[in-house]
Amino acid sequence: MPSTDATPHTHTAACLEVTFLGSGSSGNATLVRHGKDALLIDTGFSARETMRRLADSGTDPSILSAILVTHEHSDHISGIRVLAAKLDIPVFATRGTVEDAPLGALSPNVEILVPGEPVTIADMEVLPFAVSHDAAEPVGFRITGPCGTSFGLVTDTGVMTPEAIEALAKCVLLGIECNHDTEMLRTGPYPWFLKERIASSRGHLSNAAALAAVEALASDKLRAVFGVHISSKNNTHDLVAEELRATLTRLGLDVQGAPVRQDRCSESATGR
Ligand SMILES: [Zn+2]
Ligand SMILES: [Zn+2]
Repeated sequence: MPSTDATPHTHTAACLEVTFLGSGSSGNATLVRHGKDALLIDTGFSARETMRRLADSGTDPSILSAILVTHEHSDHISGIRVLAAKLDIPVFATRGTVEDAPLGALSPNVEILVPGEPVTIADMEVLPFAVSHDAAEPVGFRITGPCGTSFGLVTDTGVMTPEAIEALAKCVLLGIECNHDTEMLRTGPYPWFLKERIASSRGHLSNAAALAAVEALASDKLRAVFGVHISSKNNTHDLVAEELRATLTRLGLDVQGAPVRQDRCSESATGR
């Protein structure tokens, strides 16, 4: 896979570096790094597997300052309690997520996030914003480094909410859910109730909806777009790669587009 390093090597250290440790319905975790600090968004792999993937990505786990949680589904939280205890770091989640998470799944050390209200963690500004999903109080995140570079992550949402569009405008790096191809979902193997659930406004984002969002969010600041939470039954990585490339080319943007895998870490993307 080509590197998505958007910063010329003559520059000093990148302001923000993003690595997806893996994404899909069997586990999600995203590493956002600034200098000697890092945040993890979701830990849907076991703590042991998360540690293995951190090592794979060349990351010393001691640089992690906090874990941010998008919502309480197991593919986003299953490793959190053990990892947070092992690293002795706080977990940040909305009140709805905390109240609906299975007992003991999070950490005793939880800080409450309010959608729309930014907080600063380890010199990074973290803005949680509301998404639309069949969870108690799900959010996406925009993370901005001290130099103003932003990474936006929107996943597990049936539709792009106005809050998401507003938060993600002018992001340099984007992770956006490309869950399913609408036709593959319609004709695929899932029972009808599951198809209905996925396609609903509180389900998962289709490739078409994700690409429309990329078009709405396109700016001259954008450097990389990652397709995340790709279904193994109702989509393919090749399809996401091809559709992302076609959309970015049509928009005249010199921007990397890459699908994120379930089974391994992505290349790291950096933004000034
Ligand atoms: Zn999920
Ligand atoms: Zn979910």
